[in-house]
Amino acid sequence: MPGQHRGDWRNYNEGFAPGGTGNGGLAPIEFSMAATSAVPDTALHEDIRRLARERNAVVLAHNYERPEVQDVADYVGDSLGLSREAAKTSADVIVFCGVHFMAETAAILSPAKTVLLPDLAAGCSLADTINAAQLRQWKSEHPGAVVVSYVNTSAEVKAESDYCCTSGNAVDMINAIPGDREILFLPDMYLGAHVRRITGRANIRVWMGECHVHAGIDPENIRLQRSLHPGAEFLIHPECGCATSVVEAVSAGDVDPDGVHILSTEGMMQRPGKSAASEFIVATEVGILHRLRRNYPGRTFYAANERASCAYMKVTTLAKVAESLEHLRHRITVPADIAARARTAIERMVAIGGTTPSTPPGLGVDPGE
Ligand code: SF4
Repeated sequence: MPGQHRGDWRNYNEGFAPGGTGNGGLAPIEFSMAATSAVPDTALHEDIRRLARERNAVVLAHNYERPEVQDVADYVGDSLGLSREAAKTSADVIVFCGVHFMAETAAILSPAKTVLLPDLAAGCSLADTINAAQLRQWKSEHPGAVVVSYVNTSAEVKAESDYCCTSGNAVDMINAIPGDREILFLPDMYLGAHVRRITGRANIRVWMGECHVHAGIDPENIRLQRSLHPGAEFLIHPECGCATSVVEAVSAGDVDPDGVHILSTEGMMQRPGKSAASEFIVATEVGILHRLRRNYPGRTFYAANERASCAYMKVTTLAKVAESLEHLRHRITVPADIAARARTAIERMVAIGGTTPSTPPGLGVDPGE
């Protein structure tokens, strides 16, 4: 694996916490896909919309949330889009249907707002692979290095970082850093390997973290799906760590680039409308299929792997969203000193949408997220 070094593997082995919460240990994680309420979705939708009006709240939902949660939200998107919505909203309350680090980012960008996470168990296995103490240790081993953190990190880790990036602007971020400066890239080893390859820089050290969901979207699955559906376009949404392994596989030559489109959320939503194809294979967490199927009922969408589902995203149910609005829980706050240090890195991420796609040349792409 490019970028690995002894320290990286040691850190990876100590830092990876399968089944961890990614939420600072605030609550135990329980993976349950079952609905938690006998109340029909339509009634809960009405309750949530009423409560949102009463609270002057906006409901934001990530693409990987349950379909019924996406359907009740004011805005559905990826983590960068949600960050932008959180930063510009005039609502007093933000109900963040996503995972903990995303709600933290919203709280940092909108410190005067009340940011709510309906279920504190909504963590992230990728964010869990590194904490602030581990990053400080890594930095001490590489004095003077520039720290670039993928958005899937805790506020404490962002506070220790110089730049925060998404999959859409990682290459731009790296290219903006003088070539003679060593870079510590974390925590996604696939995105790190990919930006090393695309930028051609050898002085990027990569933290060996990964998202557990990506394991369901490996090149073998992709080859199988593409052989089953030879006329289908192949769409990749590299958000959130779950499909960065596919981007890396494409740039490494492990996946045939013919017919591949690496797309932002909006690009993915628009692509079927611009394409003559009737079938599409989608490589990302399966939650995004809901919007595609709803928007294009005449087209057929296949998951690269139906098992690529993030259990952390799925802990949020309609009943929990309603309870969150009713009781204004669970409030996500970030200590002022940490927020101030993290804000600069995050604002750079929000400002740079990715004018140079983080994709191998020659592929169908749109500009980042
Ligand atoms: S899909 Fe992976 S990276 Fe995204 S929230 Fe879930 S565990 Fe974290």
